[in-house]
Amino acid sequence: MQFVSTRGAAAPVGFSTALVRGLADDGGLYVPARWPAFNPSQLPAAEPLAPLAARIIEPFAAQDALAAQVPALVAEAFDFPAPLEVVDPARSLYVLELFHGPTAAFKDFGARFLAAALARIRTGGTRPLRILVATSGDTGGAVAAAFHRRPGIEVVVLFPKGLVTPTQERQLTCWGDNVHSLAVRGTFDDCQRMVKQAFEDPWFSADRDLSSANSINIGRLLPQAVYYAAASLAIWRTTGASASFIIPSGNLGNSVACTWARLVGMPIDRIVLAHDANRMVPDYLATGEARPRPSIATLASAMNVGNPSNLERLRALFPQLEGLREAVSAVTVTDAQIEARIRADHQRYGRVWCPHTAVAAQAFADLAPALHRDAAGRPRNWVIVATAHPAKFREIVAPLIGGAPVVPENLARLFERPSRYLEIDATLPALREALRQ
Ligand SMILES: *Cc1c(COP(=O)(O)O)cnc(C)c1O
Repeated sequence: MQFVSTRGAAAPVGFSTALVRGLADDGGLYVPARWPAFNPSQLPAAEPLAPLAARIIEPFAAQDALAAQVPALVAEAFDFPAPLEVVDPARSLYVLELFHGPTAAFKDFGARFLAAALARIRTGGTRPLRILVATSGDTGGAVAAAFHRRPGIEVVVLFPKGLVTPTQERQLTCWGDNVHSLAVRGTFDDCQRMVKQAFEDPWFSADRDLSSANSINIGRLLPQAVYYAAASLAIWRTTGASASFIIPSGNLGNSVACTWARLVGMPIDRIVLAHDANRMVPDYLATGEARPRPSIATLASAMNVGNPSNLERLRALFPQLEGLREAVSAVTVTDAQIEARIRADHQRYGRVWCPHTAVAAQAFADLAPALHRDAAGRPRNWVIVATAHPAKFREIVAPLIGGAPVVPENLARLFERPSRYLEIDATLPALREALRQ
């Protein structure tokens, strides 16, 4: 399988190369040159995830050096479940819980697959790899966890000092060993700028290779199609009908993965992109004008994206606006609605949503009545995608539900580790100095 750039001006590359490069030479994003087609009735069970993951990912790695390693890669990346639970049988409402990994957010799936793949691509005499990640919260933790203690790989996490929640800060600073956590006296944009500058500064690549392991890497995106395949197959096998997903969306990686799952033949019907007040995508679908804007801080901090990078992948798939509108719909939700939804669904269902998941739950509550039936007039199966565990955002959630959410074992284990970080100024020389130590 070859991967081509969304901008069409870079040479096609194989799976390993797409993973190592992250971004194509022409500045575009890698997408598969063609799509395999699966027959749902011939796919393995939805649980455990690893065998299904191997079947879905194998065609994409065909003819690549990694092809024979796919079963080993998915065994590492999919070693925790993605439970699908019924929330409200009367409304055919489900939740897909993607927060049972080491850092309790869906990003663990992609980060762990990429880490397992890069570790194998790089074995044998190559230079050490340094991964620089700027993070406003979840990404840095997932990447740090995935690469922690991998030989020959060093991770440098930059986060804005005082601008992440105490819980998030712990997750970014509890690793040690080959993970270096840097609290930058500045904003997330400063962290991102420093990473960009480091990539252009020869000092940083003098004795090692550099990577950003960021979310546009196809090695993080492709594995995310697996849990959509699993959930839709489970629903199709029990109800005979397809599944529709409502996805808390920011940079659109998770939603693009869902469109890919549908494209390769999974029984998926509607896909709703649920955004916070960063409404570039809903506005684009409504008006046809793609207007990037500065990001707005909301309660759903991991979705604070003013100009989602993966929109480029969606537009490559659906170049005509009409086609895109048929493929997905998009809605926007305010902070006041997030708070009210966390309260309401806790009372009604006894479920506690994280602020991101609450955006999707609100989008479900706002669905037009006609959308509750499919084309054949049957009840439509709606799945709220739960992207993070509420305990990661307990500072926000606790006052709304009148008590702290229960901390799951995976997070509790992180909270027990000592926290260690270096505080630095928001400058490139400060970053260099920190790494020299
Ligand atoms: C990253 C993240 C999102 C947004 O996902 P995208 O793939 O960027 O659209 C939503 N919720 C949580 C909890 C996240 O960490």
